[in-house]
Amino acid sequence: MKVGFVTVLGKTNVGKSTLLNTIMKRNFFIVSSKPQTTRHRIIGVLNLEDAQIAFVDTPGIFEPKNELEKAMAESIKFALVDADIFYYMIDVYDLEIDEGIFKKIKDKTKFLLINKIDKVEKNIILPIIDKFKDYGFDEIIPVSALKNQNIDDLLETTKKYLPEGERLFLPDQISDRPVQFFIAEFIREKLYFVYGQEIPYSCAVEIEEFRDNFIKANIIVEKDSQKGIIIGKDGERIKKVGILARESIEHFLGKKIYLELWVKVKKNWRKDAELVRRLGYYE
Ligand code: GDP
Ligand code: MG
Repeated sequence: MKVGFVTVLGKTNVGKSTLLNTIMKRNFFIVSSKPQTTRHRIIGVLNLEDAQIAFVDTPGIFEPKNELEKAMAESIKFALVDADIFYYMIDVYDLEIDEGIFKKIKDKTKFLLINKIDKVEKNIILPIIDKFKDYGFDEIIPVSALKNQNIDDLLETTKKYLPEGERLFLPDQISDRPVQFFIAEFIREKLYFVYGQEIPYSCAVEIEEFRDNFIKANIIVEKDSQKGIIIGKDGERIKKVGILARESIEHFLGKKIYLELWVKVKKNWRKDAELVRRLGYYE
């Protein structure tokens, strides 16, 4: 049995969450075209006959500007410590490597994943592999996370580098996060979908109540004006969020639910370390 942790690193939007979704074949990881939608360190466990691999998704690499971003940056630091393999992911159109992060994983087992190869001609890939030959990556693997290209190969190679061991998680324990966490993430994902850039990063979702088929969630915003935007004319927009989120949550839980959404203003919540912590953004 091969057992271990894999941490996925890389700038926002390179496709880290998409890769994990493809690997898990479940939508447990939030995916968005906007940067920094992954605020948490998330573990998803892949159970194979001869291996158990725990994947850790990280928020993108960036300089923190407020308490929320500081918490996100902290979770990356944490993720850097405890992995058996690091996937450093880049976009085939953006070959820049973050020096600071790279230095931290210099002596560790690391794969360079060149993602989004579905977007380019095959013949430009070899020169890219060549360019990174001397960086000290244990493997350089071109993939398409979205189109599921080379992912089987990636997993086979990953297994070779993992230590032998006993299972770390029960086979049906696919994540270390409570159900509430995923419910909040589904709602947050739909916020991005419905509002686009209008209220991008100033929202948090808090599950106030969750029992049987009833879920009450608070969407927390920073300003009164944002509350109005979220609710929309005659409540049209929040209704849409509710419908979409309910679909995802029902699919996830495998049962019908009743979802109640409330919008609450907590002034400058992102600057309030205590509140950021309470909303679950620190380990
Ligand atoms: P993250 O910030 O690194 O987690 O990136 P996401 O997984 O959220 O993906 C960012 C965007 O890139 C999304 O619009 C994805 O659909 C897109 N994307 C991810 N992987 C691929 C890929 O292999 N090919 C293409 N064409 N797009 C991809
Ligand atoms: Mg992500």
